[in-house]
Amino acid sequence: MITTKLSLHDILPLTCSRSGTCCFGKSVLLNPWELLCLATEKKITPRQFRDRYCEFGGIRLRFDGAIGWKGQHACSQYIADFGCSVHLGRPLSCRLYPLGRQIQSEEVHYMFEGNEFPCLEGCPEVSGLPQLTVDEYLKGQATGLFEKAQDAYLEVMQNMADIAFELFLDSGLSESGDTKTLPLWRKMGSEPPQELVDRIGVDWIDCLILPEITINLEDPISFAQKHNDLLQAKAQQQFGATQTNQELHEDSVLLMGAALHLARGIGANPETLVDHWIETARENGAKGDDGL
Ligand code: SF4
Ligand code: SF4
Repeated sequence: MITTKLSLHDILPLTCSRSGTCCFGKSVLLNPWELLCLATEKKITPRQFRDRYCEFGGIRLRFDGAIGWKGQHACSQYIADFGCSVHLGRPLSCRLYPLGRQIQSEEVHYMFEGNEFPCLEGCPEVSGLPQLTVDEYLKGQATGLFEKAQDAYLEVMQNMADIAFELFLDSGLSESGDTKTLPLWRKMGSEPPQELVDRIGVDWIDCLILPEITINLEDPISFAQKHNDLLQAKAQQQFGATQTNQELHEDSVLLMGAALHLARGIGANPETLVDHWIETARENGAKGDDGL
C-alpha cells in the first residue's frame, strides 16, 4: 500500500468540512479504554455498548447504519443530518482521519494512504478551507490522551505475549519436543477475527475487553496499567498450577490468542506480529515450528 509520510510541520487542507463521508464504509478499531469512552459518551455501560454497537468481542465498531456515501453503510454511531453521536468520545482513528499513525523504532510517524489527500474524494470542498499543519490538526482533534492509551495498550499486548512465551519456553514445553504450539500461534495470526474470539472464549474476552476498573477517564495510562494487573492476576490464578504439557500448550495458545486479539484492536497486523514473535521464540531456542 502506498502511503505519504508526513512531518508535523507539513501543511494540508486539514479543516474538516463535517460532511461525514468518512463515517461510511470504514473499519474503526478500538482498545478497551476507547470502548469505555464511547460507552460513557452514550451513557450506557461498556458491556451494553459492546453488545449493541461493536463486533469481534468489542474491538471494532459496527458499520450497520443506513446506506449512504458510495453505497456503503454508516457507522453505528452516525446520525443522518447530525453527524457523530459520540463526538466527544470518538476513538483515535476517527480523530486522526485522514491521517494514520505508526510507531517504528519507538518513533511516532504520521501519514495518509495513497498519493492524493484522502478527504478530496468525498469532500472536495476542503481545498477551499483553511490549511493547517499536521501538528495543529492533531491538537485540534485532541488526540493526545488517545495516543497515550494506544501506546499503553501496546505494552499490555506485549505483556500478554510474554506470558505465552514463558508458558512455552520457560516451562520445559518447548524442550520436550512440542510441535503443536508454534504452528497454532502462526495459524491464529491469520485466523478471521470472530474465529479467534470463539477460540479465546467468553470469559477471557470479557476480561480482555471489559475490565472492571473505576478510574478517572482522563488517565488512560493508569487505566491500561490496572487492566494489565487484572490480566496478569487472572493468568497467574488460572495457569499457576498448570502441570501437563497439554495444559501448558493450551494455556500458551490462549494467551498468545489474547495478545493477538488486543493487537488487532490497536491496529497492529496479527499476522506480521506473530511471525515476529515466532522468530523471537526460535532465537531463544524454540523448536517445533514446521512453518505451516
Ligand atoms: S472526509 Fe475529511 S473533510 Fe470530509 S468529513 Fe471526513 S475528515 Fe472531514
Ligand atoms: S465514531 Fe463517530 S466519527 Fe467515528 S466513524 Fe463513527 S460516527 Fe464517524
